[in-house]
Amino acid sequence: MSSISLKNVKKAYGNEVVIENLNLEIRDGSFTVLVGPSGCGKSTTLRMITGLETVTEGDVLIDGQRVNDVAPGKRDISMVFQNYALYPTMTVEENIEFGLVNKKVPKDERKRRIHDVCEIVGLTEYLKRKPANLSGGQRQRVALARAMVKAPKVFMMDEPLSNLDAKLRAQMRVELINMHKRMGTTFVYVTHDQVEAMSMADDIVLMDKGRIVQQSGPKELYHNPNSIYTAQFVGTPQTNILDGRLPQGMKLGFRPEKVRLHTMEEGEGINIPASVQTKEMLGSEIIYSLDTPYGVIMCKSEDDVEDGAILMVGVKFDSMYLFGADTMRLPFGEEEKKAVAAAFGEGKA
Ligand code: ADP
Repeated sequence: MSSISLKNVKKAYGNEVVIENLNLEIRDGSFTVLVGPSGCGKSTTLRMITGLETVTEGDVLIDGQRVNDVAPGKRDISMVFQNYALYPTMTVEENIEFGLVNKKVPKDERKRRIHDVCEIVGLTEYLKRKPANLSGGQRQRVALARAMVKAPKVFMMDEPLSNLDAKLRAQMRVELINMHKRMGTTFVYVTHDQVEAMSMADDIVLMDKGRIVQQSGPKELYHNPNSIYTAQFVGTPQTNILDGRLPQGMKLGFRPEKVRLHTMEEGEGINIPASVQTKEMLGSEIIYSLDTPYGVIMCKSEDDVEDGAILMVGVKFDSMYLFGADTMRLPFGEEEKKAVAAAFGEGKA
């Protein structure tokens, strides 16, 4: 078990600065997910923690010890990548055992650890098979088992599920949550997929252009975004952002599932005239795109209205987010409610 800190970390490749000044705390025993679009610096951050990449400025600390000059192999971190390479001529068991032989772990201890790890990832029946005779998901489990068996202080994964099909990915997400519970080790996981981040993390670190935009638990991130960027990164369809006629470049945000296909009472929220442009049946819910005077608004609802219908839709004040011209969240008090009501027509058709 280990905590990790990055303090004032800068990373440049030649003249190109990809991370300006990163401060990050990863809690001991947490399942922390670094998430953000491709190129935002997730892998670079992970690689600086493991030591595979040097730090241009600043410090990396593991359990309070500065490790900038500690070789990757001495940091007690195990890592699983998207493109895991198994040894094709070795069996599952030999693949998993390999790292332990290198670490000079005695044979009895090796067998015991392999047995335990294979129980956790469900590979016990496949110990004698070669990788060529395994499915994609089973091979990925071997890669995970091989990293886990070393009983590292920190377990790092960089997009480990992106080569798997959707069904297997969903299954592996559940397995990783269980693995984390059983091992109690600090997990640091990199992905561009908000669903993976939201479903597995205790702590989400949302990044953009080499910066941390917001770090919090999944619930907090979803319900209490600090910026338009966060509000639109998590959840599908995206959070609606309207310009309206709000003063000072302010913008109004609300999630599609908060759009009601009926009107609000005065004082309760705003009403917007809309016509149904498209309708997607998802089974339990329907996704509507609504044409309105403020642009297209997405709505997710269990209510069924007809394609082409013309209606008034409502949004409650307590479902709204207000953002400033700088795209950061603003407080939403009585004054702001009045401004929104004035701009969007409170309780009136
Ligand atoms: P992510 O993992 O979020 O997709 P990366 O950490 O891989 O992002 O990359 C962050 C930025 O650093 C990108 O702009 C990428 O082009 C750049 N970068 C990454 N590795 C190198 C490298 N070895 N040399 C030069 N630029 C790099």
